Amino acid sequence: MNSRAALAALVLAAGVALAQDAPVRYDGHHAVRVTVSTARQLQTVRALADDILTCEGSGLGTFDVRFSPERFRAFLEAGIPHAVLSDDLQRDIDQIWADDARVRAGDDPSWFATYRSLAEINARIDALVAAFPALATVSTIGTSIQSRPIRMVRVTGPGSTANRPAFIIQSNQHAREWVTPHASMFILDRFLETYATDARIRNIVDNIDFYIIPSVNPDGYEYSRTTNNQWRKNRRDNPGSCDGVDLNRNWGFQWGIDNTGSSGSTCSETYRGPAAWSEPEIAGIKSLVDTLAAQGRLKVHWDIHTNGQMFLSPWGYTTNPPPDLPLMDSLGAIVQAGLQSVRGTPYPYGQGSVILYLNNGNTRDYTYGVHGKMAWTLELGGNAFQPPVSEILPLCHEALAGLLPLAEYYIVPVVPSCFANCDASTASPFLNVNDFTCFTNLFASGDTRANCDASTTPPVLNVNDFTCFLNQFSAGCSAP
Ligand SMILES: [Zn+2]
Repeated sequence: MNSRAALAALVLAAGVALAQDAPVRYDGHHAVRVTVSTARQLQTVRALADDILTCEGSGLGTFDVRFSPERFRAFLEAGIPHAVLSDDLQRDIDQIWADDARVRAGDDPSWFATYRSLAEINARIDALVAAFPALATVSTIGTSIQSRPIRMVRVTGPGSTANRPAFIIQSNQHAREWVTPHASMFILDRFLETYATDARIRNIVDNIDFYIIPSVNPDGYEYSRTTNNQWRKNRRDNPGSCDGVDLNRNWGFQWGIDNTGSSGSTCSETYRGPAAWSEPEIAGIKSLVDTLAAQGRLKVHWDIHTNGQMFLSPWGYTTNPPPDLPLMDSLGAIVQAGLQSVRGTPYPYGQGSVILYLNNGNTRDYTYGVHGKMAWTLELGGNAFQPPVSEILPLCHEALAGLLPLAEYYIVPVVPSCFANCDASTASPFLNVNDFTCFTNLFASGDTRANCDASTTPPVLNVNDFTCFLNQFSAGCSAP
C-alpha cells in the first residue's frame, strides 16, 4: 500500500470509527404493535421493519416493531392491523433525558426516580453491601467482553445455607431494557433495607439464598445509554460485520437448532454467536447454575426482561410441552397474582413458545433443560424498552410482588417432629387443643400411631397411651 492509499485507509477507518461512535438518532421512527394473521403479512412486516422490538421474536400474532419514517409509509400501504405505540422514538428518549435532568436537579431524588448509570448501580451495590454485611456479599461472577465486571450480590439470612433453597435473579441481558437492572436493584434494596422491619421479607431472606445479578450485559447497557438507546446485544466486535451477540440466544441447550427466533447472521438482533457459550458475560452464571443445581439447592432461575408483560416458562425451542408444565403453570398463577396485586396489570403466563414465539439458546431452556430446575423469563410491562421515568418504580414493585409468593412457595415449613404435635401444625403454638383431638381420633379409630408407649402386648392401645401422650405434651417440642 502506498502512502496515499495508507492515508486514505486511515481516514476511512477514522470515519468508520466516528460513524460508530456518533450517537444514533431515531427521529420520526415509529414503534408499532402489529397483529399479523397470515404468512404473507408476517413476511411483509419482517421485510419492512427496521427492528423487532420484542425479546422473544415474531410470528403470527402480535408483536412490536420499529419503522423508519419511509418504511412506516410503506407499511401503511400494506393495510396490516396495528397500533402506533410511539410516532417518534427520538422524542421519547429525549424526554427520558429531560426528565433525568429534572429528577437529578431536585432535592434528594429517590434512587429509583430515574435511570441509573452502571457506575451508579455499582456504587449502590457497594453501599448496600457495606450497610448490611451480615446479609449481603458482593462478588464478580464474570467479565464482559470489554472487561467490565459482571457483579453479583448474594443475599441470605444467618445460619447454615447447606440445605437452603437458592434463587438466581438476573437482568439486563438485553442492553436496552433499562428497567430490568433497576428491578433487580429494587429487589436487593427491599431485601436489605426492610429486613429488620418487615416480617414477610425477613422470613424470605432467612429461608432462601438469593444470587442477584443486576446487569448481565454491562457493556451493552452503557453503550445503550451513551450511543444507541435501541442496542440489544453485547458489544462483541464481529470483524468486518455488525457488532454484538444476543446473550439470550447463546446459552448451551438446543443452541441454534434452527433459525426460528435465533440467527446465524452477525447483523441480526438475535445473532446467537459462533458457538454456544461463546460470550464471556454468561460463562460465570452457567457455572453458578451448574454448582447450585449439583448441590440440590437451585429452585428458581429468573431472567428479567421488558416489555412483553408476560411470565414465560420453558420451552422456547419447541412447542412440545415440558414434563413439568402443570407445576410451571400453577406457579405461574401464583406469580401472576403477585404481579397484578400492585396496580392490576395483567401478566399472562405460560410456555413461551406457545403463548409467544419460538426461539432457542435462551436462559430458561438451559436451566430447565439441563438441570430440570424451574426457570422463567419475566417480561415486565411498560410498553417501551425505556418507559417514562415515572414507570420505573411501579415496574420494580411489580417484579418484587411477583417474586415474594414464589419464594414463599419454596420455603419448606419446619414441622416439629415431636410426638405431641399430633396434627403436624406448622404455626406456633405447635402444641394446642387440636393435638388432643387428633390423638383421641387416632386412638378411637385404632390407629397404631396412637401407640405412644410403643407397647407390643394386646391391647396395644390402652389408657397408658393417654398418660404417655399427656407426658409428651407437657414436655413440649423443642424449637425447630
Ligand atoms: Zn429482553
